[in-house]
Amino acid sequence: MRTFIHTTHPARVVLGSGTVSRLAGEVRRLGGGRVLLVTSGGPGTAAARGRVRDELGDLVGAEFGGAVAHTPVEVTEEALAVLRAADADCLVSVGGGSTTGLSKALALRTDLPQVIVPTTYAGSEATPVLGETRDGRKAVSSSPAVLPETVVYDVDLTLSLPLSLSVTSGLNAMAHAVEALYSADADPVTDRLALDAIGLVARALPRLAADPADREARTGLLRAAWLAGTCAATAGTGLHHRLCHVLGGLGLPHAQTHSVILPHVIACNAPSAPDVTRRIARALDVPDAASGLYDLVASLGGPTSLRALGLPESGLAGAAGLGVAAPYPNPGERTVEDVLHVLTDAWHGRRPHGPVTTEAVLARLTEQVVDSFAQSPDPRLRDLLTGLVRHLHAYVAELDVSQAEWSHAIGFLTETGQLSSPARQEFVLLSDVLGISSAVDVLTNSRTPDTTPSAVLGPFYVEGPPEAPHGSVISAGLPGTPLWVDVTVTDTAGEPLGDAVVDVWQADEDGFYDLQLPDLEEPVLRARLRTDSEGRVTFWSILPSHYPIPGDGPVGRMLTAADRHHYRAPHVHFMVSAPGHRRLITQLFVSDGAHLDSDTVFGVKDPLVVDFAPRTGATPDGRVVDGEWRLLNHTFRVAALAG
Ligand code: NAD
Repeated sequence: MRTFIHTTHPARVVLGSGTVSRLAGEVRRLGGGRVLLVTSGGPGTAAARGRVRDELGDLVGAEFGGAVAHTPVEVTEEALAVLRAADADCLVSVGGGSTTGLSKALALRTDLPQVIVPTTYAGSEATPVLGETRDGRKAVSSSPAVLPETVVYDVDLTLSLPLSLSVTSGLNAMAHAVEALYSADADPVTDRLALDAIGLVARALPRLAADPADREARTGLLRAAWLAGTCAATAGTGLHHRLCHVLGGLGLPHAQTHSVILPHVIACNAPSAPDVTRRIARALDVPDAASGLYDLVASLGGPTSLRALGLPESGLAGAAGLGVAAPYPNPGERTVEDVLHVLTDAWHGRRPHGPVTTEAVLARLTEQVVDSFAQSPDPRLRDLLTGLVRHLHAYVAELDVSQAEWSHAIGFLTETGQLSSPARQEFVLLSDVLGISSAVDVLTNSRTPDTTPSAVLGPFYVEGPPEAPHGSVISAGLPGTPLWVDVTVTDTAGEPLGDAVVDVWQADEDGFYDLQLPDLEEPVLRARLRTDSEGRVTFWSILPSHYPIPGDGPVGRMLTAADRHHYRAPHVHFMVSAPGHRRLITQLFVSDGAHLDSDTVFGVKDPLVVDFAPRTGATPDGRVVDGEWRLLNHTFRVAALAG
């Protein structure tokens, strides 16, 4: 059992499109009447600033537009003076993490309520952490006093954030989530939020790359920023943030540094936190977390090397030393050599290698095979083949299929193919006994409730059966209980359909089809009839018996090995082709027959179980029958072709 302590920081979050229109109401809700509006200069946030000013109107007591990166205390002092001169009673900030940082610094000094309107995905608004720079050194502190009372996330204000900043800012959010998963203070709630956040960022960024105005993707990123910041607030940060702060102190840009470092820290921590690494990989939907994340950043044109961010190689050793100088929480101890290794790889922009697990190798193999079909000109063919590959790979992986088992399977399929011929369809039989024929049938044919249900074709249909007139005998003298078949074909409204072709085939009283009786020279118990103007077809046959599917081939042996019986419930097959209507392939089952509940090809459907009613005496066409005969009376309803 996992014992944990979870601290939820109080905050009100308004998230959506156009939510900035609620800003004045949110300020008043906090008792605010004279707002200090905190912003930064720069063209990027000009529209957002204008929007916020408009919404606040007279509530703005003063504006301080000088927020800059890393929250220097001199700037905070300047802003404090403006705040006091205006006698402000509430702080509203609009901008990225730098602007949020200044608002938090002011709140720490004045205890004024804050409403923060983030325009990036840094997530600072959700954490009690404040990094301030004094005399060129950044010091990080944590206090609930810096947490805003309300956060208003308005996706509309983020549409102007360029793709490159969106990518690095999204990675900043992801870094909070990843480190929350590593944390000793993690709990089931932070785990869930963190994995959600990682998945949201991983899904949203490629969408933004395709369409930077994709509001849904940007809303996902805002949610991720909030969730990830919430995790960081509870679970804290570790080696990754430590290194980013050290590098930030050397003048590297904040969010870009996160993008470069995160894959390498994940690779470095993988041996100490294999389970977390696997969960990150799953959330990213990649085989290996570190290389998968690196590939994501690279594919989005994000930064992958510290060199490109301007760090001289000579700075690496010093940064590594600073990285381990102060204690930091992390899964597993990291030596200065470990950290130098991380920083060196990151400096060169090397793709991190994940641990070479069987799982990772298999996942990569699957993707390679799937990718090999990517250029298929027919998209349906591509989907069918890649789906097959994914399922078969998952099958062999899940069941840990051995070389010997796979060879056996290949031998089985080879024999199935070798046995198949126009007169013996072992592959259809295999599909039937595995229930696949019935599954495809359900998907293809049985979607209209007012038509007769379909059933599988089975392995014994032969193209072009002999034509037979009405009332003819199709059993050619074979022994058995005579069966008078009188069936009608109608449309779904019950209107009879004339000139419909009705193919019929069935087993004899011993359960054999003509194909299985080598002494027969002509087709027997199979015929083609045509409905008359009343949609009717009549003929004499014999009562079919239940029968075993052929047991002398690989499919029969498979059933025996699995201790499954081989029997089909007794039935007559029909294939009805009426002009202008969908072809119906079905079977009618003898209601007092055997194996109705355990048909070996899973073909029985309740509406197809019908009376083959026992009769004696006079027959419909005057034929003289000694003893019992049976009557099959049924109506097939077929659907018109669409269009
Ligand atoms: P930022 O606030 O410095 O903004 C980066 C750039 O993006 C700026 O030029 C800004 O004008 C522009 N910008 C912001 N929103 C925009 C928009 N919607 N459209 C166009 N341009 C826009 O950078 P950031 O990455 O948001 O934040 C980084 C700072 O936040 C760092 O100082 C970092 O330490 C801090 N931070 C703190 C925490 C915390 O928990 N305390 C968490 C994350 C980040």
